[in-house]
Amino acid sequence: MRLSPSFRHRLSPICILILAVTSSVFAQQKQQMDEDFAKSVKEWTTRPEFISPLVDHLPKVAGVPSPKDVLGYHIGTPKKLTRTTEIYKYYRELAAKSPRVKVINIGQTDEGRECLIVIVANEDTIKNIEMYRGYLAQLADPRRITEAQAQEIIAKAKPIYHLSGGLHSAETGPPEMLMELAYRLAVEDAPIINAIRDNVIVTITPVVEPDGRDRYVDWYYRYKIDETGEQDSMGGPPYWGKYIFHDNNRDINYSQVTMRNLLEWYLQWHPPIMHDLHESVPFMYTFSGQAPQQPALDPILYGELPWFANFEMSQMIKYGMPGVWTHGFVDMWSPGYLAFMSSNHNGMIRMYETFGNGGANTMKRKVAPPEGAGQTSREWYRPSPPYKEVEWSMRNNTNYMQTGVLSALQLTSQFPKVVIENFYKKSRNSVEDGKTNAPYGFIITPQADMTRVATLVNLLRLQGIEVGKATGEIKLKEGAFPAGSFVIKRDQPYGRLAKILLEKQNFPDPNLRTYDDTGWTMGLMIGTEVKEIADKAILDAPVATVGKLEIKGEMKSGEAAAAYAIINHGSNNLITLRFRLKDLKVQANEQAFKSGDAEIPAGSFIIAANQPDAHNKVKAAVESLGLNAIALSSTPNAPMHEVDLPRLAVYSTWGNTQEVGWVRHALDKFEVKYDLIYKERVKQGALRDAYDMILIPNQSGSGKRLVFDREPARKPLAYTKSDQFKSHGVYGESEDITGGMGLQGALEFEKFVNAGGLLVTLGAASFFPPEFGLTRKIDAGRTSAQFYAPGPIVEAEILQPQHPIFYGYTKKTLPVRYANGPLLNVPERDREQQILMRFPGGEKSVMSGLMRNPNEIRNRPAIVDVPAGKGRVILFATNPCYRWQNHGEFAMLFNTILHHNDIRTIEKKATQTAEVK
Ligand SMILES: [Zn+2]
Repeated sequence: MRLSPSFRHRLSPICILILAVTSSVFAQQKQQMDEDFAKSVKEWTTRPEFISPLVDHLPKVAGVPSPKDVLGYHIGTPKKLTRTTEIYKYYRELAAKSPRVKVINIGQTDEGRECLIVIVANEDTIKNIEMYRGYLAQLADPRRITEAQAQEIIAKAKPIYHLSGGLHSAETGPPEMLMELAYRLAVEDAPIINAIRDNVIVTITPVVEPDGRDRYVDWYYRYKIDETGEQDSMGGPPYWGKYIFHDNNRDINYSQVTMRNLLEWYLQWHPPIMHDLHESVPFMYTFSGQAPQQPALDPILYGELPWFANFEMSQMIKYGMPGVWTHGFVDMWSPGYLAFMSSNHNGMIRMYETFGNGGANTMKRKVAPPEGAGQTSREWYRPSPPYKEVEWSMRNNTNYMQTGVLSALQLTSQFPKVVIENFYKKSRNSVEDGKTNAPYGFIITPQADMTRVATLVNLLRLQGIEVGKATGEIKLKEGAFPAGSFVIKRDQPYGRLAKILLEKQNFPDPNLRTYDDTGWTMGLMIGTEVKEIADKAILDAPVATVGKLEIKGEMKSGEAAAAYAIINHGSNNLITLRFRLKDLKVQANEQAFKSGDAEIPAGSFIIAANQPDAHNKVKAAVESLGLNAIALSSTPNAPMHEVDLPRLAVYSTWGNTQEVGWVRHALDKFEVKYDLIYKERVKQGALRDAYDMILIPNQSGSGKRLVFDREPARKPLAYTKSDQFKSHGVYGESEDITGGMGLQGALEFEKFVNAGGLLVTLGAASFFPPEFGLTRKIDAGRTSAQFYAPGPIVEAEILQPQHPIFYGYTKKTLPVRYANGPLLNVPERDREQQILMRFPGGEKSVMSGLMRNPNEIRNRPAIVDVPAGKGRVILFATNPCYRWQNHGEFAMLFNTILHHNDIRTIEKKATQTAEVK
């Protein structure tokens, strides 16, 4: 509903009254104000109601630099965005001049930029900051203090309220606003600010993703500064950070260095509140944790969230600011968002979405969709809705965000002890919950492939979860677990998080939708058995504390007479070993065989001993990668093929780099060599001369969008490095990133396959070969509108266990993350040969999370291997390389790379064993 003029008219006297009252409350007369600031922000604020008495002024303090003193412009100046270096320069100059501000370095980005934290509080607090940090650390682990000690500490402690901006680079406002906020908090002499400074420690991540910030700001100055409205948007750059795009807010395993830096800082400082600033919906949404809520988290949290959100909303409505709302946007199910770092560790997640223009231009924005009201309807949680159309500026955005944050800080400053006590109670309750409610723990038993066990244990450790190693056998109702088993007891401060990450996700209501994945059960995703324990005796099991778990591999015997066998138990590190030993000839056995007592599974690496320095090279690689090798006294007579490495290319569109980024990240981590190619290279042709295998990661959503990609803009969009735009032209270069590879590109892919190349497509990229005739007989369909599968984990059934793709997999079925790829259809007579894996479908096949109408995928292919021309196409309807999460599926992709030219169609199952190259 749009505010009728009469309604607005009725509001205005109230606004005037408030202004009259608040000017005395918020700004004391004696402090000198920056008149130029007041005049400028009034001018840049597009309507008088889009500002509040909290932010319509800025003090001028001799000797302490305001943002303009350092940057040369006020925050919210039209057409001004600030790069990371300048942002950091501002904070450092502020800290140099104000005893109320401190800057600390918490690490570096992929591209070598700094990651900083800024702390603002009164002088005394800053001086004693280590003491205050210590208080919160004590409260974070209530096992080490008594209730009486806790009360003493609470009486002395101050809450840390953490704010972060710039996680999403296209959301340009927060890193600007935070500079003004820091200055205001440091210098303003007004009751509300004084209370915040005295009672709260405000910490700030100025820019969560510095690489992306600079690349986006470069892009803004290169293309977007001339935009006049939504109709002539030039879009954004193809990359933010090195590997990541918008999904950096779903990096549940903290794979990216910027996320990890923040988590490590978090676990040392324990801010009870962590508030992440985003931009999308109008005019300001404040998160309140709507359903479905994660039931393992403390119920106190679900009281705190609306407490804060409603306070902000009512304050801002009181100031006359329309369009502030809560509740109806993001739910509280997935623990993978960045700010959930806080609620996952007994703190409080907070989040805003304010209205941003993707730059710093003032423009007319249509807020409501062409039909309906969208987010402009009046609802119980949106009593003063946004307008349907608005002229919007960076300063409006700054005013909303800063007024909201100051209101939240005001509330914190009035109830600092409540916030701290809640933090303590949630921490204590987490420990108690682990003592009183099953499951009481989880056990990971040692398995043949210890590298994935280490992956799981280390990811838990990274999140601060304590893991123990059983010093003797543990006997429980669930069975006996050998010494060396890894034990996660629930009676620890982060025992609730352990439960959330390790248990099966039971989505509470299939009629509810959710913002991201519904399933993430770590054991299933990593391919490691995790036993949930309902026997309380686990809490008393003797264990030794585990730090970082390093698995040392083992070369079981001395120098071999004939060959070394590196045993394939499914470790993803096998591909790293192959790349490290690229100078050695490596073979793979196609069938299992025995050497003495040892069983050598199919797909193990056989390395002839007579190669130069073979023993030392194999030993070094095996030991450092946590693999096992044995010496063979004679060459095995099992059928073998050479594991030669492909000339590998990874194809990316310019318009959908996000999912490609996760694949690039995984390939880089496992030291796989590849070329990253785009339409420019594809259109040059002769792909087969250059490559043996081309991988198209999940992207674009359909074949058509993969081929035609980003729509041409009003001028070519070059992504090239220049003196002015240094951050561009990395991870690829293009004179015009729009237009896609087109039919010409599709034709080059067909030629590549016909000439003997291997094309591998993942997830939605698997629409491309069927839709463009590269796999003529395969069809790719879609599920119905009733089907809904937000990232559940489902069962997949291996139909051709002898296929090289499944080397290292020992079970007939395995858990996979459902990727919403195509519903593939293979002609009846080809099914036996071409379908490698399928989805059994149905309710029983959903292992974690939600899939509505799971019968729609019943017996649909999950992986199809199709000969085409002299080459072949392998279509994954799954995504075996997803967000550094499904490590248990990685090996299917890695095996495809390792055995790229030894994949053969097996005509009849009866003859399979005889078929040897
Ligand atoms: Zn965002």
